[in-house]
Amino acid sequence: MPTRRTGGTQVRPATEGWSQQKDAAGRPLLRFSAPKRGMPPEHLADLAVEERAARVTALGLPAFRAKQVAAHYFARYSSDPATMTDLPAAGRDELVATLLPPLLTPVRRLEADRGDTVKTLWRLHDGALVESVLMRYPGRVTLCISSQAGCGMNCPFCATGQAGLTRNLSTAEIVDQIVRANGDLAAARAPGAAPERVNNIVFMGMGEPLANYARVLRAIRTMLAPAPHGLGMSARGITVSSVGLVPAIRKLAAEALPVTFALSLHAPDDELRDELIPVNSRWKVDETLDAARAYFDATGRRVSIEYALIRDMNDHAWRADLLGEKLTARGRGWVHVNPIPLNPTPGSIWTASTPAAQREFVRRLEAHGIPTTIRDTRGSDIDGACGQLAAADA
Ligand code: SAH
Repeated sequence: MPTRRTGGTQVRPATEGWSQQKDAAGRPLLRFSAPKRGMPPEHLADLAVEERAARVTALGLPAFRAKQVAAHYFARYSSDPATMTDLPAAGRDELVATLLPPLLTPVRRLEADRGDTVKTLWRLHDGALVESVLMRYPGRVTLCISSQAGCGMNCPFCATGQAGLTRNLSTAEIVDQIVRANGDLAAARAPGAAPERVNNIVFMGMGEPLANYARVLRAIRTMLAPAPHGLGMSARGITVSSVGLVPAIRKLAAEALPVTFALSLHAPDDELRDELIPVNSRWKVDETLDAARAYFDATGRRVSIEYALIRDMNDHAWRADLLGEKLTARGRGWVHVNPIPLNPTPGSIWTASTPAAQREFVRRLEAHGIPTTIRDTRGSDIDGACGQLAAADA
């Protein structure tokens, strides 16, 4: 492997307008475990089917009531006892309060693309804030969801990392983002129009999903569970995106769930990636790419490489070649690259690559035989695009 290549101006990552939290050794602080904070009340979507039945029998009701409540929640997106007329009035409010406590309170809704992109800011029971972004495309509805309030990965170009990690989301707080979006779609449905629901999930909102592994996995299993026990979604429509926590990537590969894995690589060389993605101090580019390739081997799902194109920082032609070489060295047909022109974050001096640099980057990767598609960045005008979710209540 070449140690160092050159060509073009090299801007070094530096933060502007805010300073990155540092650890005792002076390196960017990484938080793999969340601060201990009160988790929300237990909710139906946190529980396995048998546990739901147990909660209901503990209230002195027949176990099958759990299935009825689940159908209201997962299929009709309702948490309102007044709509649940198939449940006996006696004990209904208590049953619903036990299984469906309110988790997400909408604070603000911002729309772009004539309503086809909607960002919602949610307040959680303890005041923590998270965002999710709904994107409607012809024949497809994608929801970008959060897995943590804040993020502990401290990437200097991402707005979410700047405030640090508040806490992990519970399984139900993750699932409820989808149920609420489905409820909004159903409520907004025009007379005579076909029903719409979220069929694509990307864990590209706030947080590092693999740092909240167990709850994220449970949430995915609930998305996949057939109605009335879950959302009956297809694993092929779910993408988990990560900075590259190698042991967790390997664990996810072993779950035998055909979800798509996306790796936020952003630089093919350790020298630059050490600065752009602080977790690179733990797991280097090569071992991270090995884990991504192993993910493909275990699941047969083509891996996505995310690459935010930042002007004069990581967009050099030689880096496209180095990336192409490192990917093809691990075989063909297992990976594709999604360059994302950088979305500016508040106070940032960094800018997106020029269109010419973007085209050259794509051309070089394609010359290596790597399928490459520039990601369209929906919602940048409402700070709803990749890396812009800061959940400020302003
Ligand atoms: N923590 C996960 C998921 C959240 S971020 C991860 O890092 O993959 C979703 C994607 O947006 C990641 O690829 C992230 O690197 C990218 N991103 C962050 N800030 C960005 C910005 N300012 N412009 C474009 N993409 C950005």
